[in-house]
Amino acid sequence: AYETLSTKDVHAERRERFGANLKLSYADPVMLLRGWRHHLFDQWGRPYLDAYNNVPHVGHAHPRIQAVAADQLRRMNSNTRYLHPAQTAFAEKITSKLPAPLSVCFFVNSGSEANELALRLARAASGGRDMITPDHGYHGNTTGAMDLSAYKFNAPGGQGQPDWVQLVEVADEYRGSYRRDDPHRAEKYAAQVDDALAAIAARGGRLAGFIAETFPSVGGQIIPPQGYLAAVYRRIRAAGGICIADEVQTGLGRLGEYYFGFEEQGALPDIVVLGKPIGNGHPLGVVVTTPEIAAEFAKGPEYFSTFGGSTLSCRMGKEVLDIVDDEGLMENARTMGDLLLDGLRALQERHVSIGDVRGYGLFIGVDLVRDRDSRAPATALADYVKNRMRERRILIGCEGPDDNILKIRPPLSIEAEDVQMLLSRLDSVLDEAEMLGGMAE
Ligand code: PMP
Repeated sequence: AYETLSTKDVHAERRERFGANLKLSYADPVMLLRGWRHHLFDQWGRPYLDAYNNVPHVGHAHPRIQAVAADQLRRMNSNTRYLHPAQTAFAEKITSKLPAPLSVCFFVNSGSEANELALRLARAASGGRDMITPDHGYHGNTTGAMDLSAYKFNAPGGQGQPDWVQLVEVADEYRGSYRRDDPHRAEKYAAQVDDALAAIAARGGRLAGFIAETFPSVGGQIIPPQGYLAAVYRRIRAAGGICIADEVQTGLGRLGEYYFGFEEQGALPDIVVLGKPIGNGHPLGVVVTTPEIAAEFAKGPEYFSTFGGSTLSCRMGKEVLDIVDDEGLMENARTMGDLLLDGLRALQERHVSIGDVRGYGLFIGVDLVRDRDSRAPATALADYVKNRMRERRILIGCEGPDDNILKIRPPLSIEAEDVQMLLSRLDSVLDEAEMLGGMAE
């Protein structure tokens, strides 16, 4: 039984069998064998509050997810070359959440694969090849998705920026070129797309489109100023490009007020990319687009994925979306998110190291600084807080170009008492860090 294995042995075995560039979370890695709702349990049965993972969207080990998987595996599991009502039921459920022209679904196995397909759709529909995307973005681990992910191609040892990709600044109104004191910041950030379009023209390229995480996550849990995305999309469309919204992190009710992030931005994408939470842990990605774009793509070779849209995947995906509705999880994300954000803002009054608190629902970033005026990133402090929180059995992460932004992104089932626990522990960990004289940066 797994329960008898020591963390040390499993860790040693892993070092031998896995590549060294697959990193573990935490200095003292945690081994987790069971989960229930927003709780995880280690080999000793000790509980951890999962305030980090967005994949278990409706909670770990949800009984309805268990039941639907078991039921479908008992019947059969096959592919989309055969008719099955579960396929169309899942597609109908997704498109019922999306505005009108977004009505054609493609099922794949991951977020990476979904972005890969989105890129092909944009190229087929536009006739162009060049893409524009914000800096520090992440869209996946496949060749095309990596080429669109500045977070990877600009990392040490990365492949560098492809000539067909133009970067614009992340619309970060706390750290970027235009900040909250500038009422025209949305438009100014969006205007950077004009320079990218000029660069494409200068190299004799042709625009395929624009891709962005609606709210950049690895970029630092960024909420762009309202209207930013709509202003970008206007420019992209005027230049004949296709607008892709990567909603892998922001979709499906996590934001509380909005089912998708683009709604908050007053923007309507041509392609929406979904992943991670939509399978609640089962590998599943979805691309939704317009009939026009799908028709252009259909002029090319047949598109088929062996596992994408398997009967099991369709049952799982639909069940996740149904549970979000049936359990009022979007509303819970809103109320719990408000509690968390209010509590974090109260902590900001007590702790000078909290420079900024931002987020919607259960998509939250806490920007730790060495100094509030210079906003110098407190990278070592963030690492200390993340690891001390883990020792106190709360799982959170660090994010952003300087890894100084605490990332809080729990399953949508989290309750008020868990929020209180997180806030109270974070308060005491920050007290502790201050008592130690802050972290040597
Ligand atoms: N897009 C975004 C915004 C993501 O956060 C991720 C995964 N972290 C991906 C795409 C890639 O998804 P996957 O790991 O399922 O391929």
